[in-house]
Amino acid sequence: MKINLTEAARLLHEAQTVILTSHIRPDGDSVGSTLGLMHFLRGIGKDARVMIDDEIPRIFRVLPGIDRIERPAEGRRYAADLLVVCDVEMKRTGAVVPSVDAARVLNIDHHVTNDEAAEYLYLDPSRAATCEIMCELIRAMGGTISLDAATCLYTGIATDTGFFRFSNTTPHTMHTAAELIEIGVKPNVIAVAMEMKSYDEVMAQVRAIESLEMFCDGRVAAVFIDEARAREVKTTEGLLDSLRVIEGTQIVFFMKWLEPDTYRVSMRSKGVNVSRIAQTFDGGGHIRAAGCTLHAPFDEARRMILAAIGKELNA
Ligand code: AMP
Ligand code: MN
Ligand code: MN
Repeated sequence: MKINLTEAARLLHEAQTVILTSHIRPDGDSVGSTLGLMHFLRGIGKDARVMIDDEIPRIFRVLPGIDRIERPAEGRRYAADLLVVCDVEMKRTGAVVPSVDAARVLNIDHHVTNDEAAEYLYLDPSRAATCEIMCELIRAMGGTISLDAATCLYTGIATDTGFFRFSNTTPHTMHTAAELIEIGVKPNVIAVAMEMKSYDEVMAQVRAIESLEMFCDGRVAAVFIDEARAREVKTTEGLLDSLRVIEGTQIVFFMKWLEPDTYRVSMRSKGVNVSRIAQTFDGGGHIRAAGCTLHAPFDEARRMILAAIGKELNA
């Protein structure tokens, strides 16, 4: 059921023990929004914990409270008054949603593709990041944002907007970020931390870019990362930014091996609706940034995604 911000605020006020979670393959907005809200809730005396069912990339070590993030243990049950699912719909939290017994479930998200399966859903696709929504939510609760919370929330806004460059960046986004900077967040510190890569990661990315292929008369640029290459390409962070700059491209994407016959696809566009492409494979996202998982051998997965992209481009 869709609810408004005041109702979401009330659900949080009414709960004492709160479990916060987000999607697997964590990004700045998932880690930032859960940790940001955790800091606020603990500050007002609630028993709040963050559970994410995946490894947390090293770059997020700059976020206060990062060591507090738990991974659900196999076979264990967790109880809470409220489960808050942030920056994703219910079905992509790995083992978290299935292992939590919560009296109520609140979903807070900004993805247009949200399946609206949650008991209570606060959805605002006009916001660039879930962290932007969290700032509004904390205000709606009559609260103030601490420096720890602000640092987490700023990070999610910055990463989901490509540091305020993508088309989802609005005056509201900038006002919110400005407020967080007034609280004391250092934009340069966050930027440096988010961009950090090891020497090996940079070299692996160079090799990935070397295998770049162009399709659809130069309108599509793609990198295919098979099993062997996936073992060295630890991070694909920033890879699509290097492809987006290629003149004439409308869609850029990579397809990367995850496990046998399973590939992750990540797409960026300059206007074509890539979330629609992702949805045909049970994925989702935003108009200009979306992803999905393909279950097929390499050649077939490659053919499937190229066909779907070609069809949407020529629609
Ligand atoms: P990414 O390319 O992984 O940065 O994701 C781009 C956008 O698409 C993000 O907002 C993701 O939450 C969303 N997304 C990526 N993969 C999936 C998926 N398998 N299912 C649903 N949404 C996804
Ligand atoms: Mn996210
Ligand atoms: Mn997000």
